[in-house]
Amino acid sequence: FSTQTTPQICVVGSGPAGFYTAQHLLKHHNQAQVDIYEKQLVPFGLVRFGVAPDHPEVKNVINTFTQTAHSERCAFRGNVAVGRDVTVSELREAYHAVVLSYGAEDHQALGIPGEELPGVCSARAFVGWYNGLPENQALAPDLSCDTAVILGQGNVALDVARILLTPPEHLEKTDITEAALGLLRQSQVKTVWIVGRRGPLQVAFTIKELREMIQLPGTRTILDPADFLGLQDRIKEVPRPRKRLSELLLRTAIEKLGPEEASRQASASRAWGLRFFRSPQQVLPSPDGQQAAGIRLAVTRLEGVGEATRAVPTGETEDLPCGLVLSSVGYKSLPIDPSVPFDPKLGVIPNTEGRVVDVPGLYCSGWVKRGPTGVIATTMTDSFLTSEVLLQDLKAGLLPSGPRPGYTAIQALLSSRGIRPVSFSDWEKLDAEEVSRGQGAGKPREKLVDSQEMLRLLGC
Ligand code: FAD
Repeated sequence: FSTQTTPQICVVGSGPAGFYTAQHLLKHHNQAQVDIYEKQLVPFGLVRFGVAPDHPEVKNVINTFTQTAHSERCAFRGNVAVGRDVTVSELREAYHAVVLSYGAEDHQALGIPGEELPGVCSARAFVGWYNGLPENQALAPDLSCDTAVILGQGNVALDVARILLTPPEHLEKTDITEAALGLLRQSQVKTVWIVGRRGPLQVAFTIKELREMIQLPGTRTILDPADFLGLQDRIKEVPRPRKRLSELLLRTAIEKLGPEEASRQASASRAWGLRFFRSPQQVLPSPDGQQAAGIRLAVTRLEGVGEATRAVPTGETEDLPCGLVLSSVGYKSLPIDPSVPFDPKLGVIPNTEGRVVDVPGLYCSGWVKRGPTGVIATTMTDSFLTSEVLLQDLKAGLLPSGPRPGYTAIQALLSSRGIRPVSFSDWEKLDAEEVSRGQGAGKPREKLVDSQEMLRLLGC
């Protein structure tokens, strides 16, 4: 690699994986040019469209990402869907290296009858709706029912339950969209059940999110002490973070309430609970067949030990009436382009340490590399590792030598296809507009949710 040649690198996706990969590349190579392609008009992936509006502190990473974007060797190219507007092969020809950091855009289907009924939706779409993801704005979920059921017991399930049950006035000063707030104000949902196939020792959420649920104003927690029989001793053997979480669950389930907490719970108008050892079997239709009216759950028992514990059906079932079913059984990555290997079973791009197998010069980071689990900090560590591997390959002369045109070539292709990319300064205009629209209501921002309007604001 000649010292005169500026390494041209592009990253696909502007979520935490894309930005942390770019940050590390720019910091550890003093010439590399990094272009970040993003299909949305706005950056930051799930930090903007996933993280709950009442967790603003989590979104502080945006400040670091903004610093990265301000580097003169970094450029944001929004409004470009890779795989549709430009192929990965075209990017590989224009750049010395391409990093795929495009996350997990789909949800795992339940694969049960009735899943298509109105009243059933994915937690992914529900989250996208309250967070202003343009493609989910038409969702407008029907919250006129008394009971909602969430399938899956991870942090996303708790986020959704919390948003459904938090008194709307507590969300007024967040960046939740005005439309979502309007529907939540009229919501009739009083009870939310969070259903899992396995037991209290296998839940996938973390202690902070559980504590928030237990302390939710005006809401009582329902746990069945029978689910916790015999767990007291087993909890002592589980590893540390899970031990603390399990202890909190156990205490909440079996301890007698003090007078203050008892009166708080007695006056609560809403409730949430965890239903264990239940696997979804069928969404039950209303008598006219037009709407979800309940869910049939297969009762399960556990087989095996430790992390390998599996839920197997006992043959019994239970019907739970509800008007809203939200499936929160996981996000899922999609293949981006036929030229890129994809493992449909694991839902990831096959890779070793971030090097895409059998495709020199192609790398991956974040959820599309590891699968859709892990917090932003995990995604950061993982992205730094991919960047390190790429820089090692660059140093070892494993990437194409000689100059590459980088964005100049892609810009010409995009313009011939009628695609108009947006820049980071375009985002800053939209950002300023959002902040100013939020000001009157005391919100950090009122998100723009209509892509056409955003393009108009940018003069496109
Ligand atoms: P993403 O954040 O999904 O970014 C991928 C980006 O790629 C997106 O911007 C997408 O638009 C873009 N893209 C997709 N396809 C294309 C394409 N074809 N062309 C161009 N661009 C494309 N972590 C925490 O630490 N704290 C939290 O409170 C928290 N809350 C969460 C709440 C929810 C509902 C979810 C789902 C996750 C949450 N996480 C949280 C986890 C965190 O969001 C992830 O660890 C992280 O976002 C993964 O980063 P990523 O860059 O791999 O994916």
